[in-house]
Amino acid sequence: MTERKEYDVIVIGAGPGGMTAALYAARANLKVAVLDRGPYGGAMNNTDAVDNYPGFVDVKGPELGEHMYQTMMKFEPDFEYGDVQTVKLEDGKKVVVTDVGEFAAPALIIATGADHKKIGVPGEEEYSGRGVSYCAVCDAPFFRDEDLVVIGGGDSAIEEGIYLTQLAKSVTVIHRRDQLRAQPILQKRAFANDKMNFIWNAQVEAIEGDGQKVEKVTYRDKETGEEKEVKASGVFIYVGILPQSKPFADLGILDEQGWVATDDLMHTNVPGIFALGDVRAKHLRQIANAVGDGSIAGQEAYNYIQSLND
Ligand code: NAP
Repeated sequence: MTERKEYDVIVIGAGPGGMTAALYAARANLKVAVLDRGPYGGAMNNTDAVDNYPGFVDVKGPELGEHMYQTMMKFEPDFEYGDVQTVKLEDGKKVVVTDVGEFAAPALIIATGADHKKIGVPGEEEYSGRGVSYCAVCDAPFFRDEDLVVIGGGDSAIEEGIYLTQLAKSVTVIHRRDQLRAQPILQKRAFANDKMNFIWNAQVEAIEGDGQKVEKVTYRDKETGEEKEVKASGVFIYVGILPQSKPFADLGILDEQGWVATDDLMHTNVPGIFALGDVRAKHLRQIANAVGDGSIAGQEAYNYIQSLND
């Protein structure tokens, strides 16, 4: 028989939002489990410097994650490793089915975040881990003094591109339009960086190499229609994010793109199920507002549990 552990609140995902929700719920004296399939910290673990989280003038992503974990653990939630497969609804209880057993509670908080999107060109799969990467902080040291390409024009592409210039010889950003989507402050830093080059209005066609490692990126100039190439031994792809919401597909809480729809108090349309942070349908995805979402979700979970006793 599958082992089942009972709680008041289950939080899925130990990024900044999930850890804040767990902190609030546990501090309100509820019995809380936090589940994650990997290390706590979430996307902060793949972020070098964080300079837009108040209270920390100069902090690395993993270091901020450690501070948040320590703050949460002061209130003694159970931290459990488990890969969530699905969630079942049973007599008002939310039963979270994982590879290590089941966890059940009246309140569930979904804080699973988002994952990188693939660009879907030839060579992307083939060279993944052999020159194609989605994580500059993880892989930059493999490309010391090399020429690199970053694909994308959002905050991630520009922030990570700037990070790569610390070790790389050059970083060429290939973007499909003639202006960046990234925040002005990141644009300013990127344009002022001597190691950064930009190729505008370019449709990436393929990532090519010698079968072992990446050698170049080919693209089409959208203005002239010309096929061109740029030499690179590493290609970092930042073309957006996708919600990590598959285990919740049958709950009727996702919008058409798979983001979890909530109201301002993080309630989904299923009573007792809340969602927060990057997995939620919203406009701005930041550590600061994930933490804000988390405080609301933790408090709302408490209110929900109280209402069951009315
Ligand atoms: P994003 O903001 O969605 O940007 C994706 C970029 O990739 C856009 O420039 C987009 O072009 C381009 N793109 C999308 N599909 C493409 C394709 N098929 N081929 C080529 N280019 C393509 O994604 P993100 O940069 O990963 O950021 C995700 C969220 O995290 C955002 O809300 C962002 O603000 C946040 N974030 C914040 C920070 C920070 O505050 N420091 C850091 C990282 C991320 P178009 O511009 O033409 O659409």
